[in-house]
Amino acid sequence: MTSRRSFIQIIPLAGTLALLAQAAHADGAKVDEKDPQAAALGYVADATKTDKAKFPRYAAGQTCGTCQLYPGKPADASGPCPLFAGKQVAAKGWCSAYAKKA
Ligand code: SF4
Repeated sequence: MTSRRSFIQIIPLAGTLALLAQAAHADGAKVDEKDPQAAALGYVADATKTDKAKFPRYAAGQTCGTCQLYPGKPADASGPCPLFAGKQVAAKGWCSAYAKKA
């Protein structure tokens, strides 16, 4: 009986883990700079192309790869960002919500 109970307890856990893995993987399309939300945040796939007049907060060296909201590794070409659910931002990208990783 113990093994049956254990099995029943594992099923919801497995489902939760599958959902988390799906969310973390975020294999979605790359964020389009022309997407209304991306445009509002000033997202660019190449941080050096940031409109410095419009976004004076931008400083050279700031990229998604060094942003607190970016869970990917700095060496990854792209990764998920909670501001763009299900999509990928470029590690070399930038937006006005940038917050330096601690
Ligand atoms: Fe990139 Fe950070 Fe903006 Fe997300 S919040 S797009 S990781 S700079």
